[in-house]
Amino acid sequence: MTDIYGITYGKLKAKLTEIGEKPSRADIIFPAIYSETPTAIAELTLKKETTEKLSGIFYTGELECMKVLTSETADKYLFALGDGNTVESVLMKHEFGYNVCVSTQVGCNMGCAFCMSGKLKKRRDLTVSEMTEQLLAIRRISGKKITGISIMGIGEPLENISNVLDFVDIAMYPKGFDIGIKHITLSTCGLVPKIYELADSRTPVNLAISLHAPYDELREKIMPVTKKYRTAEVIEAAKYYSEKNNRRITFEYVMLDGVNDSDECAQQLSGLLKGMNAYVNLIRYNDTGNTAFRCSPHERIMGFYDVLKKNGIGVTMRRELGASVNAACGQLSANCQ
Ligand code: SAH
Repeated sequence: MTDIYGITYGKLKAKLTEIGEKPSRADIIFPAIYSETPTAIAELTLKKETTEKLSGIFYTGELECMKVLTSETADKYLFALGDGNTVESVLMKHEFGYNVCVSTQVGCNMGCAFCMSGKLKKRRDLTVSEMTEQLLAIRRISGKKITGISIMGIGEPLENISNVLDFVDIAMYPKGFDIGIKHITLSTCGLVPKIYELADSRTPVNLAISLHAPYDELREKIMPVTKKYRTAEVIEAAKYYSEKNNRRITFEYVMLDGVNDSDECAQQLSGLLKGMNAYVNLIRYNDTGNTAFRCSPHERIMGFYDVLKKNGIGVTMRRELGASVNAACGQLSANCQ
């Protein structure tokens, strides 16, 4: 049996053809299973014979929600997967809508020194349905219409690119979640070949790259992935992405006191990004219980900001959401505390 929430509209049409049904049945099935009150396969308004056939192939799966922590700006959800593993997702409440931060793996192997998710070794990739069902469960429990997705929860999404692309396809389906490509952002630590793959895919979503340091020697210390993909290669890939898809790239930069927050770092960062269709998103370091790091003081962050501004580099400060329920960037793990 297959969980139908892992199947894209295109793949469902192909499957229908394969079993001798009209592919256009997908236009009845998809809106029904993705409606705000999802219809079970057996309840679909199709010929009895067809629903029976479909019930033998598909089921509508769901994630078990173990815990929800709510705050004014964000709610954190803990989900149990079928195999006993757990993941977390976050509903972020912006003035302009509700954005879900989706996890893509159980644990993460990238090992960034400042990130809590990296402390959990990766157990496996999430399936397509496990990503879709994060949206379904959060919509059902919160009763909110989801207007955007951040693919930046636990895991490195580009390590799981093929499932992530199918998930994006499903999230964009117009009679379902209907989330536009401009409202979907994927964040990566910089897996260079996969950035090219995403750039050339059917759905080049908004790209955010976790840079966090402007040169290899420093970046290597906090992001081991730098040993494999050098900073210059990451920038090249970002340029390709931006030019090919006419997109503005976001470079995330977490402000670590005394580590990467000097004016000199800001100057180097400006040099690196000069002339690119890109901007820097400065992120306050959120406490993860790791005593090696502290967030830069506010004045230092503003000093860094000013250097970038003076050099003509676009820069914003990420709005702090979810810290009170440990749901901010870098604070997701597997136990919802
Ligand atoms: N693996 C992806 C997405 C997950 S993390 C990536 O690396 O981009 C989402 C963002 O939060 C990344 O920019 C990550 O570097 C940042 N982050 C991790 N730990 C953090 C912390 N403690 N405080 C603030 N941001 C953090």
